[in-house]
Amino acid sequence: MSEQPNHNATRSEAEDDKPKPWRIEGLTKKPTPTKGGDRPKLDWRRILSVALAGYLVTFLAVSLLDVTTAPKSIAYTEFQAQMAAQNVKSVYARGDTIQGELKSPKPLPDATPATEYTQFTTERPNWAKDDPLAELTAGGAVVRATPIVEQRGLLGSLLTSILPMLILIGLYLAASAWLMRRQLGGGGVGGLMGKKFTPVAEDEAKRVTFDDVAGIDEVEEQVTEIVDFLKNPGKYTRLGARAPKGVLLTGAPGTGKTLLARATAGEAGVPFFSASAAEFIEMIVGVGAQRVRQLFEEARKAAPAIIFIDEIDTIGRARGGGRALGGNDEREQTLNQILTEMDGFDGTEGVVIMAATNRADVLDPALTRPGRFDREITVHAPDRTGRVQILQVHMRKVPLAPDVDVEALAKSTPGMTGADLANLVNEAAILAAKRGADAVAQADFFNALEKVQLGVARHVVMPPDERRLTAYHEAGHALLGMLQKGADPVRKISIIPRGRALGVTLSTPEEDKYGYDADYLRGRIIGALGGLAAEQITYGKTTTGVDSDLEMATAIARQMVGRWGMSDRIGPMSVLSNEGDPRMLGISDATLAQVDEEARRIITDCLKEARQLLSDHKDKLDAIVSALLEKETLDEDEAYAAAGIERTTAA
Ligand code: ADP
Ligand code: ZN
Repeated sequence: MSEQPNHNATRSEAEDDKPKPWRIEGLTKKPTPTKGGDRPKLDWRRILSVALAGYLVTFLAVSLLDVTTAPKSIAYTEFQAQMAAQNVKSVYARGDTIQGELKSPKPLPDATPATEYTQFTTERPNWAKDDPLAELTAGGAVVRATPIVEQRGLLGSLLTSILPMLILIGLYLAASAWLMRRQLGGGGVGGLMGKKFTPVAEDEAKRVTFDDVAGIDEVEEQVTEIVDFLKNPGKYTRLGARAPKGVLLTGAPGTGKTLLARATAGEAGVPFFSASAAEFIEMIVGVGAQRVRQLFEEARKAAPAIIFIDEIDTIGRARGGGRALGGNDEREQTLNQILTEMDGFDGTEGVVIMAATNRADVLDPALTRPGRFDREITVHAPDRTGRVQILQVHMRKVPLAPDVDVEALAKSTPGMTGADLANLVNEAAILAAKRGADAVAQADFFNALEKVQLGVARHVVMPPDERRLTAYHEAGHALLGMLQKGADPVRKISIIPRGRALGVTLSTPEEDKYGYDADYLRGRIIGALGGLAAEQITYGKTTTGVDSDLEMATAIARQMVGRWGMSDRIGPMSVLSNEGDPRMLGISDATLAQVDEEARRIITDCLKEARQLLSDHKDKLDAIVSALLEKETLDEDEAYAAAGIERTTAA
């Protein structure tokens, strides 16, 4: 889209005045001429209509004037009467037409309503036998050869009609300039000029920056590149580097996705255009796509800029299956428009589009294709340290009593998001205000917590028992990952609930592996069963939290047996092909039963081994659990330190 259609110049005023479903931050509207040759353009359509209106007004005014001051047409007998009364001052005659002026006004005969006249015109019948010249000279009238009422010449008429028009246009220009000045910082765009807005960083104190975002440092790091790009786009474009175009922020509600996007814009000092996807399709049918186009156009003009689209899943749901009733075309059109706009960017515009969702799983794959929202940043609920930092950010705004203990508060608020914590601080301040206190005390925070927790139940503030069990489960996975030679090192353990999972243990290979041997695969199965084994040896029972672990263990074991020839009983034979029913390939039911049996044997063996390993290292397991309960998230170093295990670098 190197050629930009000049929508703005032709857009009508009425359209601009309609409410727009987006908000703008950090854009001081200051019309300035664009650089080089591209001067502000006048809207000729509008000027033409103003001119036409001016012309009409003038025309009417002049005609009215003509009617009132034009010479009255009178009967020749009336003219004779005036001649006889010697009341004629002057006449001009051409042929039989006589125009003239009376010395004193006389009532116009037969006129309703009664009017007087001085100027007149009349026709002299050519069979009249009078001698007007003699009579007139006798009455002292001047008989001239020039018209008494001067006809307006062509130039004169033009001038009289154009001059007021020019005055009107001048007035209009002055008025719109005045309006524009008044709109500085306001939302309205429009007016006569195709203008270009220069973003002027707003009152810096008011904008959100990374200072206001706490506890999600890792995520913050991921957007610093965007900040850098927006600050000096030239640095990147000069080298032909493509700018980051679309960033998808995923994470539970209230984890600070919107805040992060705003802070990115604030940090870079560029305008922030934000809209909720739902607002686009709630509008009148057929307008969604158009609004998207306008939004992108405005952002392009204000570039460098960030466009933020919240709840992108409401329009970005995968097509087909489970189509929502009604408004579906609208949704699709709006989505298509967003995709079209993004595809139209070649990366040099300096516009970064950020979108947020808490349902990344339902998104249309078209959205996440390269060149669109190809970068995904996941924002998690904060861990304990994160909660301390978030609480501190929000406590900056309230006066605190000396007894406030942020650490204790953070400890009591597992599972709460940034939004919950912000709300907590606010509620505490309200309680303190009700008390008539002039500082917020620790008791206020705990009273507020009770109140808030009722509302937070939705994202499971985990009861202590359950937290402990989750900690054992995750510690089991992690410890087995650490104990086995060649297993993938443990990167992170967490007992912060994320979506369906109550906790997570992350282990990734040191380097990309392309082939796996049986030992490694057994190690993977043992690791996968670590959660289950830990629950068994600690509690003597297991919970539903193990389902995905078992799925994984089973899948690996079955493939070892049926595809990779790693079982002596089945031998080197492909029983389970990649797809389709093995029976169609002539595999007997007996063989399939053997595969099942072998897989079960492998899993059972692995589970036995997992339990053995954990029992042998119960002290380490307990150590990881207490560290987890304390910190909720352990990174690689912390995890190995807690277990007291030397980190073995896989050679
Ligand atoms: P989301 O867009 O993920 O639903 P928001 O960004 O709207 O969440 O968060 C709502 C509010 O919660 C923010 O305005 C802010 O006050 C607070 N908040 C959320 N996360 C954080 C954080 N990491 N640091 C500080 N405040 C936060
Ligand atoms: Zn597990």
